Order: sequence, then C-alpha cells, then structure tokens
Amino acid sequence: MLNTLNNALLLNNGLPQFHLFQINHIEETIDTLLKKTHEQFVQIESNLENNQYTIPELYEISIDYIEKIEYPLDFAWSMISHLKSVKNSDELRESYEKMMPRVIEENSYMSQSKPIFDTLKMLKESNKLNSVQQRIIDSSYKSMFLSGIDLENNKKKRFNEIKLELGELSTKFSNNILDSIKNYELIIDHQYKEDMKHIPLYARELYSQSAQQKFPKSNPEDGPWKVTLDIPSFLPFMSHCPNSELRKEIYIKYISKASSGKENNLPIIKKILNLKEEIAHLLGYENYVEVSLSGKMASNQDEIENILNDLSEKSKPYALKDLNEIELFMKEMHPKKEKLENWDITYYSEKLKEKKYKFKEEDLKPYFALENVLKGLFKLSNHLFSIDIQEVDIKKENIHTWHEDVKFFHIYENTFNGTNKTYIASFFLDPYSRPGEKNGGAWMNTCVQKSKVLDKKPVAYLICNGTPPIKGNNDTCSKPSLMTFDEVVTLFHEFGHGLQHMLTTIEDAGASGINNIEWDAVELPSQFMENWCYHQPTLKSFALHYKTGKPIPDDLFQKIIDNKNYHVGLGMMRQIYFGMMDLYLYSHSIENEQDIIEIQKQFSYKYLVKDIVEEDRFLCAFSHIFAGGYSAGYYSYKWAEIMSCDAFCAFEEAGLENEQYIKLLGMRFRNTVLSLGGGTHPADVFKQFRKRNPNVDALLRQNGLL
Ligand code: ZN
Repeated sequence: MLNTLNNALLLNNGLPQFHLFQINHIEETIDTLLKKTHEQFVQIESNLENNQYTIPELYEISIDYIEKIEYPLDFAWSMISHLKSVKNSDELRESYEKMMPRVIEENSYMSQSKPIFDTLKMLKESNKLNSVQQRIIDSSYKSMFLSGIDLENNKKKRFNEIKLELGELSTKFSNNILDSIKNYELIIDHQYKEDMKHIPLYARELYSQSAQQKFPKSNPEDGPWKVTLDIPSFLPFMSHCPNSELRKEIYIKYISKASSGKENNLPIIKKILNLKEEIAHLLGYENYVEVSLSGKMASNQDEIENILNDLSEKSKPYALKDLNEIELFMKEMHPKKEKLENWDITYYSEKLKEKKYKFKEEDLKPYFALENVLKGLFKLSNHLFSIDIQEVDIKKENIHTWHEDVKFFHIYENTFNGTNKTYIASFFLDPYSRPGEKNGGAWMNTCVQKSKVLDKKPVAYLICNGTPPIKGNNDTCSKPSLMTFDEVVTLFHEFGHGLQHMLTTIEDAGASGINNIEWDAVELPSQFMENWCYHQPTLKSFALHYKTGKPIPDDLFQKIIDNKNYHVGLGMMRQIYFGMMDLYLYSHSIENEQDIIEIQKQFSYKYLVKDIVEEDRFLCAFSHIFAGGYSAGYYSYKWAEIMSCDAFCAFEEAGLENEQYIKLLGMRFRNTVLSLGGGTHPADVFKQFRKRNPNVDALLRQNGLL
C-alpha cells in the first residue's frame, strides 16, 4: 500500500506539495495509479456496452466520470513532467523515461476505446447537448475518428500500416537533415584572417572551438575556423563574413541540404505526400488539407489562400523596396560588384541595419528590471480586464514551490473599494534561467484546470528564462534582474496564454481555458499581449531606468520599432511562400519527384521577389511540414498574427487615450477571447469581439506595410 500522507504525487487536493516530492516515489506511485485508472476505465467500457442510459447519463459517464478517474494519474504525471522541465536531474529523468511508455500506452488504450467512440457518436447525433458540451463531444469524436477507429477491417489494417510507415519516414527525413549537416564542414584557414575579423567574437569562438578537434591549436583570432550548416554557426557567418565567395560556398550547401546521395529526402517527400493523401481518402476526405482543416479555425483552403494572397499582394511592393534598398547599399559599399546574389542578401541587409539602427541590447536592459516589467504588465491587465493581481507571501501562506526564486500570485476580480474580493485564479512565476536543471525557452502550462466536476479554480505555471539578479554584499555590486527586450515580449506572450487559461468562465474542463481551442487560434491572446510592448505609452509607463527611474528615451523606443519592422516585407513574402506551397503540396496528387522541384520553383516565382538559385532544394529540409505537426498547417503562423493584430487594432481604432472606451473594449476582449475557451468556435469568438470577420490590414499597419 502506498502511503498517501507524505507522497506529493498523491496529495492532489490543492496545490502541488512540492516540498514532499521524492523521486523514489515515482515508479511505484505511477504503477499503482496506472493500474487503478485502467481498472476503472475498463469497468466504464463494460457498463457502456450494456447501455441502458439516457443521453445526460451517457455524457456524465463518458466525460465527467472519466475526468474524475483520470485526475489522480494526470495530476501525478503532470507534476513529474513539470519538475522534469524546471528541476531536472539524472535520477528524475531515469524514472520519467522508465514510466513514460506505460503512460503513453494507457492513453492510447483509452483513445482507441470502441465503446467510448460509440457513445460519443450517439451523443454527437443526439442534439440534446448544450453548445459547449456539443463542441467537446464533436472534437473528442473527431480526434478518435481521425485515428482510424471507425474504419472497417481491411481499411483499418492499411491505415495502421501507413501510420507506422509515416512515423518511420518522418524519422528518416529528420535524420537525413541531421546527417547532411553533420557531414559538411567549411574549414577556413589563416589566409582569411582579415575576413574573419569582421565576424563577432562569440561566433569566432564557436568556430574555433569546433575546429579544435582537428586543429587543437585553433584559436578565435588566428583560426583555423570550422563553420557548419547549424543555424548558430551558419547565420552569423552569412550576416558578417565580407567574402562573397566563402558565403556562396556555404550558402549553396545550406539550401541543398538532404537533397542528394544517401541523404536524399526527395523520394521521402513524395512518399509522405502520397501516404497522407491515401490516409485522407481512407477517412473519406478529398485530400490531406481537408483532414488538417477539419480541426482548425480556418474553415477551408480557399479562405486561407484568399487571405494569404491578399497579404501577399499588399506586402510585395514593400518586399521589392527592401530588396532594392539592399542592392543600392551594396553598390554604395562595393561599387565594382555587379549583381546582388542570393548569398549576399543577408550580409548587406545586416550591414545596412547596423548602419541605420544600431543599438546594443545593453543600452536597453537597464530599463527592464523584472519588478518594473511585472508592475507594468499587471497594471495593464488591471486597466484592460479589471483584474487585480497580487503577489502572495509564500512563507506566510504556506505555499510550496520547486525553487526559492519562484513567485506566486493570486488574481482577483477588481473591486473599486478593495473589499469583498472575488478570487479567480493563481499562477506560479519562475522567472530566471537555471542552466543544467531547467529547460530553455519560455512557456505557460496548466497546473490546475478549471473544472466544475472536480471543483477546481485554474492555476498556471509561467516559466521564463531571464537573467537572475546579481546579489552583492552592498548596493554598488548588486543588480536587479535586467531583462532583454525579447524577454519582456516573451513574458507578455506567455502571460497572454496564462490569461486565457485563468480567466476562462467555462466550467467543463474539456473546453475550459486553452483546452479544445483549435491550434491555429491558440496564439491569439498571447500575440495580442505582445503588441502592447510596442505601444509607446504602455512601454514608457514601466520601462524605467532601474537607477534613475527615468523612462526609456523616445529615440531608443523608435529603434525598437524600426528594428522590428526592418525588411519585414521580405520576411512576410517568405512565410507566405512556405504557407502556400504547403497547402498546394497537400492538396494535389504528386506523381514524381521532379514535380516537387517544379512546384517549389513555381511558388518561388509567384511569391518571392528574388529568384531562387538552381540548387535550391529548400523542401528537402522543411521539417515543419514533413517531420513535424505542421502538415497543411504552416499557414497558422501568419493566421495567428493576422487575428492578434486585428484584435489589437480594435483598441487603436478606439483611440488609446479614450480611457472609458478602452476599459469597455478590454472587458469585451475578456468576455469573449479570454472567457469562452474552447467552448465556442474561434471564428465566432473573434466575431463576437470584433463585430466582423478578421482582415489583414492591421497586421500590415503594425509592420509598417500600409
Ligand atoms: Zn505561444
């Protein structure tokens, strides 16, 4: 028997009791919970098979009751996963990896349950559910349907074969890219010392370090240097190496990665496209785009293509202008150079940017002390959404965290006289990087999901990786945590996800917060919040120098904006080119490998302002759509930007100085985007907020393209 008193994985009533967590509890606890969950699930399956239930009873069993029986395992496993990402150790990873396959196995058993599927089907067709319940049932049904559960024997067999083959192909696709990166190196010796001087020291250090295996005496000043096709190695070289021939050498290798010899991905692409088309047909769809869009906000391919083409038409003149500017600058720098080649663009673009808008990250950081940024973020949230955010005294309130730097906050309904506060939600904030035990990047994750069945209010984890404060023994050597501007934007982004998780009013866990939101809509609130970092009065209200208290100077703010919008036209066309090509490939039958090359060419002519070089085989390294989850979904990046900018634009149109109206609009945003969760279709949510369908103008304006 497990001891429930001191086992944090079983103490699932309130907040996680991190102080009681012990790695040696993991295996036995998860094993017990898995067995118990499985037993109860099988019992439900057999009850459902002897179906004597009414529709409300069926809903209660297949949704509410299952939420209850899954909860203990979910709680324990998410606590372990969370700790693995913020407080990792060899022992923790070992236990995690040992139990992981069994957790996956149980999840896949449940998602393949025929009695549950049949029940969902009955519920789906009953027309007796409220709209939130209907959406939960529809999407659970769809995800089971898309896993082939409803196919008859032969088709199902074929479906599973394809799934298996696709898994292998996507691994092979990724491995080929990795191998082709690994098998190439550009060794640059001493004779190029003058060229190499122009490359930033951090990059030369990297090049020299990688060269040391072959040339133990290599050093950053004198070389030799080894440059590879890895982005951290490749990009600084393309941006700073003044030698066009050297840039050409590595550029051609880079854009033809995994396109020849043993590592050729072209036949794999053809297979993947053919197999995904076959899957679409087995499931009764015309093509794979239809499969992908069946669970997204965008309703059909035409709608996306129209929007992207609209964006393209309006951005193209700016992209041409960008290119022209780069060309003129090249002539200015090197009058004898006749033609701007593809491998010159990054270099001259970077040099021009340095000339026009140079500023150092170090100039900005003193304005972004974490404490000030948080104050600004909370004040903005209070202003827009009428919520009060208060830090909790962790010791006094007996809250336990996984590290002493972690903060904890409560969110309350804003009451103007400060009495009778209504509690809404809470969140942990883990602000600083801890190399070695904490993953890089930033994210928002669920700690507790809002749920009526389990009587829970939402709690979120907000995880960032900022620079920790320097604690000196006197005032002169201590320094608060000073953030880079990117880190500020990231914090606003993750907080936007957090707001949607915490301010949800949906009480069915299956659709509360960010649950059940189509993933081309999930970035709306996060990117919406990012926009406020580029809004001068908002930024100025909290970007105060940590020593003098003075707000960020206007010229520095302008440089932030100029940098953001620098040559954005070129970037925009590139993203549209990827998005449109992805949709085309997944909606047409591809007969041979040569067609794929031809399609890439045609799309580049249509959307890029500079012709690609003959060797360009970009698709052979397009992992997003051939080895990741973005097949027929790459458009989502632009889609989310369009939505979030358009939403932000509502505030600009209102006139941001119009306090009363901004409050009203903020509440409308809260009552729609932040409240309705996955319980309403995102296109309807958007319409409820904006009173119309989205359009691309706001994105263009926000990027200086209108
Ligand atoms: Zn995000």
